[in-house]
Amino acid sequence: MVFEPHPELDEILKMMGEAGRHLAEIGASEGAAGNISVCLRWPVELRARFQLVEEIGLPQLVPELAGATLLVSGSGRRLREILDDPEANIGCIVVNEGGWAGRLYTSNRRRFERVTSEFNSHLAVHYDQMLANALNFHAIIHAQPLRLTYLSQIPRYQDEKYLNTHLLRWQPETIINLPEGIGFIPFQIPGSLELKVANVESMRRHRVVIWAKHGLMARSDVSVKRAADLIDYAETAASYENLNLSGGEKGEGLSVEEIRAVCKTLGIQQTIF
Ligand SMILES: [Zn+2]
Repeated sequence: MVFEPHPELDEILKMMGEAGRHLAEIGASEGAAGNISVCLRWPVELRARFQLVEEIGLPQLVPELAGATLLVSGSGRRLREILDDPEANIGCIVVNEGGWAGRLYTSNRRRFERVTSEFNSHLAVHYDQMLANALNFHAIIHAQPLRLTYLSQIPRYQDEKYLNTHLLRWQPETIINLPEGIGFIPFQIPGSLELKVANVESMRRHRVVIWAKHGLMARSDVSVKRAADLIDYAETAASYENLNLSGGEKGEGLSVEEIRAVCKTLGIQQTIF
């Protein structure tokens, strides 16, 4: 939930840009990989920056989101370039009454035809989370961090218990920031119905879900940058894990007792250790 005064459009676009640039810096969005979207419940003035309007169909019926605004990165656009020119890279969708279509606001500087091809997965998670938790703000990032995505190719890391007990053991910050752990879903074709369904289900229990052999999705009901931070924490954990694997597994990691003591002291509820 984001309380008043709500951030202005300019501020949210800037945060999308800064998150996009940071994801590029940590090696999580090569080429045009990755996409960002935000769903807002408060009224936003779009016409000053996004003058073109067209009606588009939505990938699923979302009647309860009527009037909500979604800011979505364009298909084929680079996350690192959003900051320098948001209008060229972002489209804004206002959901129509009935929730089967929306008005897409874009700039005449836009450099994309459609919003991201993963929009079906983004919209499904926004819809699910905003309704279940009565949110007025929700941010989603899909990125492809190198080390986490590499670990998702190793069979033993495809087990959520193994994945989490191995990743969340390198720094106290990891369990503090991801007490519910990281979700894992098997490989599905990008943009498919199967990916959308499995992802929505896992995102109910986690704020970061690994898409095997592809990347991940992260969400936040606080800010876009908070979602990017979660990716940063998870990818840093994977960096430690990869270092440890390549160094012959010499690292101890925090013991179960140490992790439990951190959680007890800070009042962190977790079920992983
Ligand atoms: Zn992808």
